[in-house]
Amino acid sequence: MIDLRSDTVTKPTYAMRQAMAVAEVGDDVYREDQTVIELEETAAEILGKEAGLFVTSGTQGNQVAILTHTKRGQEVIVEADSHVFYYEVGAMAALAGLQTRPIAGMHGMMPLDEIAKAIRPENIHFPQTGLICLENTHNRSGGTILPLSYMQSVKELAVQHHLPVHLDGARLFNAVAATGISAAAYAATADSIQICLSKGLGAPIGSVLVGSRTFIEQARKWRKMLGGGMRQAGVIAAPGLIALTQMRDRLVEDHVRAKHLAKGLANIRGITVDVERVETNIVIADVSDSGLSTEEFLTVLEQCGVLATAFGGSLIRFVTHLDVTDDQIDDAIAAVAFATRMR
Ligand SMILES: *Cc1c(COP(=O)(O)O)cnc(C)c1O
Repeated sequence: MIDLRSDTVTKPTYAMRQAMAVAEVGDDVYREDQTVIELEETAAEILGKEAGLFVTSGTQGNQVAILTHTKRGQEVIVEADSHVFYYEVGAMAALAGLQTRPIAGMHGMMPLDEIAKAIRPENIHFPQTGLICLENTHNRSGGTILPLSYMQSVKELAVQHHLPVHLDGARLFNAVAATGISAAAYAATADSIQICLSKGLGAPIGSVLVGSRTFIEQARKWRKMLGGGMRQAGVIAAPGLIALTQMRDRLVEDHVRAKHLAKGLANIRGITVDVERVETNIVIADVSDSGLSTEEFLTVLEQCGVLATAFGGSLIRFVTHLDVTDDQIDDAIAAVAFATRMR
């Protein structure tokens, strides 16, 4: 199977398996796991923050950050297609007691004037704005990159209003690989950042949340409440360290393959792809002109040995990653061409 559903499907490399076997471990709730400590410090250093916290998933990292930044009854400004709003099971409402203020974005960017208008002034009737969330790269927009200048402008606005900014940087290193801008430069525009080790970087499990030392101390307690206090977690932090230190540079290969896939798909009659918008490792194809529904389309693709994801309406998402070869991309293009001839 050529699995293009997500970059989360990668299997740990041989080096990662080896590192797991020999990892130094201890009880991490007692802060005695040296491998976890090394992972947290490494992530903090790369992102230019004081401290890091190893969490079980990107969702846990985002929600721990949101819980740490806010108080119940506050309002959080989020992009309407953001992961924290769209894909985190309503956690902001259910766990943090927050109201969300979704703003429609362009390629993942909420217009600055819309953010400014959404920030609540003091009024007896109003909830208090507690946080602004950004996402880079932006998943549902097709892995698009938020420009650094845009993030700096959002930060300036937030500072004017004494608001913290949380960056969902699940795929921040894809933005770094594509632009050459450092992760620390992006991270400087946010108070907290969540990065995924288990996507393009290829680790089997986990994310790291980074921020100031005080913030991470408080976040550690929220993580414990959510059941994320782990014991000999060095066995899963070890592949995370390899992901963070050795796998960032190879993300450009995924981007080249995604561009190749996008161009190939764009040449097929019945398929619409905005090739210009393929900035990282995600390709979104519209299959409406093929005459097939997304379900029918995905079924034919699967029969051809290709897996992709339904992405709402007539859209299908393909994601390139560590375990996909150039030949497999060509096979995937051929499978899509075959599917369009099915009707
Ligand atoms: C994948 C992803 C996450 C986290 O997902 P988990 O499955 O919880 O690890 C968060 N934000 C974005 C933008 C993502 O793409």
